[in-house]
Amino acid sequence: MFECDIVLSPNPLLNEVAQPIEDFGKSTHELAKEMTKTMYASNGVGLAANQIGVLQRMVVIDTTYTSNKDKNPMVLINPEVIEHSDETYFGPEGCLSIPGVSFDIERYAKVKVRAQNLKGEFFEIEADKEELLCKCLQHEIDHINGITMFERMPTMQRIKAVKAYQEALSRGAVPGDVE
Ligand SMILES: [Zn+2]
Repeated sequence: MFECDIVLSPNPLLNEVAQPIEDFGKSTHELAKEMTKTMYASNGVGLAANQIGVLQRMVVIDTTYTSNKDKNPMVLINPEVIEHSDETYFGPEGCLSIPGVSFDIERYAKVKVRAQNLKGEFFEIEADKEELLCKCLQHEIDHINGITMFERMPTMQRIKAVKAYQEALSRGAVPGDVE
């Protein structure tokens, strides 16, 4: 079985705000490599640095991954939502740090994100609710701001969700398990 280093909720590292990355040298490249490897090994579509215990503003995403042949990881450094729609939508989400369960979470229907690549160059990316990428971007950017799905829920939903998660953990759920 895969030995992973994914931090599980309720570890306080998941509620810490990660620091901006200013150095685009070797250690940042190595972090990206480590995160990408961890994401694929757990069959995730996204991973934030907090989730491996590193408080730096880096996110990796691959929402098109279906087999080993078509890995196409996107590395987002210091990503932020710079524009979003007023409209929101609800859709099911899972999280490698909250294994065994998925929950309906409210997200913006459209977002524009600005980030830097591994060379430090800025780029922008847009997604709307028809694409998995839309909620994935918002979910991962939440992580580097110390916000998990639980903090996105209204109180009543959160109480039920925490209970469902505890049950999943006692069944032995591991990162990558959805339901
Ligand atoms: Zn997550």
